Amino acid sequence: MPRRNYNEDDFEETTFSEDYRSVLKEKHMTAGNTRLASHNKTRVAYFHDEGVGNYHYGERHPMKPHRLTLTNHLVLQYGLHEKMEIFQPRRATDDEILNFHSSDYVDFLKSVTPDNVDKYEKLFQQFNVGDDCPIFDGIYDFCQRYAGATIEASRKLIANGADICINWSGGLHHAKKSEASGFCYVNDIVLGTLELLRYFPRVLYVDIDIHHGDGVQEAFYSTDRVMTVSFHKYNGDFFPGTGHIDEVGSSLGKYYSVNVPLRDGIDDDAYVWLFKEVIDAVIGTFQPSAIVLQCGADSLGCDRLGCFNLSIRAHGRCVQIIKNFNIPLLVVGGGGYTVRNVARCWTYETSVLVDTELDENLPPNEYRDFFKPDYKLHPHLKGRVENQNDRTYLLKVRQRVMEQLRYLDAAPSIQMQEIPPDIQGFLDGEQEQRDLEDDSERGKEKRSTSRVVHNSEWYENDKDNEAEAHDSSWSSHPMDIDD
Ligand SMILES: [Zn+2]
Repeated sequence: MPRRNYNEDDFEETTFSEDYRSVLKEKHMTAGNTRLASHNKTRVAYFHDEGVGNYHYGERHPMKPHRLTLTNHLVLQYGLHEKMEIFQPRRATDDEILNFHSSDYVDFLKSVTPDNVDKYEKLFQQFNVGDDCPIFDGIYDFCQRYAGATIEASRKLIANGADICINWSGGLHHAKKSEASGFCYVNDIVLGTLELLRYFPRVLYVDIDIHHGDGVQEAFYSTDRVMTVSFHKYNGDFFPGTGHIDEVGSSLGKYYSVNVPLRDGIDDDAYVWLFKEVIDAVIGTFQPSAIVLQCGADSLGCDRLGCFNLSIRAHGRCVQIIKNFNIPLLVVGGGGYTVRNVARCWTYETSVLVDTELDENLPPNEYRDFFKPDYKLHPHLKGRVENQNDRTYLLKVRQRVMEQLRYLDAAPSIQMQEIPPDIQGFLDGEQEQRDLEDDSERGKEKRSTSRVVHNSEWYENDKDNEAEAHDSSWSSHPMDIDD
C-alpha cells in the first residue's frame, strides 16, 4: 500500500495564521476583518429549525434528514448551546430562493407532491427529479427551512451579530439554477453567498464533502469575488463527474475555482496536510473577507456512500484550521450517509467552533441506541478502504494548485461590483457564458459531465488553447497529473 509516513513537522501548526491575522489588522482593513480584531471571544450563532429533521426522502434513500435531529440532540445534551446564541430561523421566501433559482423550477417545486406526480411527470427530466432527487411530502417546505437558515446566518454575519454562524441543515451544494441534483433541490450555499456578497468584497467557499461542490462552483465560475475550493474524490466517473484539477474558472473568474481531486482511501495525515497547504496558500493569496465552509460528512471513513478513511478528528481539524484565520465564517453541513457518524462529526465540529472539549463518552440521550455498541464520540473509522493516494500524487496535486494560485495577483484589489437588488443581474454574465456553452458541440453531452470537458471557449488566447490541447490528453487519464 503506497503510504507516506509524514514528518511531524508537516502537520505542526505553523505561525502562518498568526502572521496572516496581523497582516489583516494592519494592512488589509476590510470591513469584516477589521471588526473581528476588536473581539477577544469568538461569538458563535447556531441556527436550527426544529422541524427540518422530520422530512423523508424515502425508506431506502440514503439521505436522512433525521441526522439533523440527532446532531441537534447531541449538541444540546453536551450543553454546547450554553456556548452559543441559538436561533430558530425563519423559512426562506420565494423571492429569496428566486435570487438564484429560475421561476419555472421554483413553481414546480412548490406545486409537485407525491399525490400529483402524474400531472408533473413530463417535467421530471427537465428538472432532474426522480430517483436521486425524489418528490416527497413537503419538499419545498424542507428547502425553505434549510435555505432560510443559511440566509439568516449570512445576514447575521453581515450585521456583525456573530463571528461564526452554524447551520448543519444547509450545505446542499449540488443544486443548480433550474435543476435538482445529488439529493439537493435548492442551493442554500449560493443563496447565502449572494447575501454575503452584498457586504463582503470577497467570499471564499471551501468544500470538504467527498463529492465535488459543482453547484456552487458553477454559480460563481466567472466571477473573481468568490473563490471556490473543493476537496473531493475524482476519477471522472464518481458523482457528479466534475471537479478535475483543470476546472479553474472562466473570464473574470479564471483561476478562482480550485479543485483538489483525490483518490480512494485518503487518510487523516495526508488529507489534513494537503488541506492546510492549499488553504494557507488560498487565503494568503485571495484574502477573503468572509468564508463559507461546507462540512459534508461523507468524507468520513465508513460512510455509506463514501470511500475515504477520515476520522472525525481529522475532519474537525479542517474546521479548526479555517476557524484559526478569524475571518467571518459560515459553517454548513452537506452530505453524510452513516447517520450516527454524521451526528458525531457535526457535534464535535460545533465543539471545535466554540472552543470546548467534549467527553469521549456520549451523554445520556434518547437516541442512545444509534450509537451502539461503543457510545463514544470518536469511533474507529479508518482503514476500511486502501489508500490510493501516494506521496508523489499528493505532492503533484499540491504543486498544480500552487501554480494556479500564482496566476492571481498577490494582493487583489477587487472593486466591489454592485450587487443589484434582484441579484440575478450579477449572475447574468455567468448565464450568458453558459448559454454559449449550450450552443456548442459540448452542450450535447450528458448534463452531469458538461462542465468536465476542457472547452476552448474558456480560454482567452492561443497560448491557453495550446494548454487545452495538451490537457485534453488528461481526459482519458483523468488522475494522471504527472506530466
Ligand atoms: Zn457528498
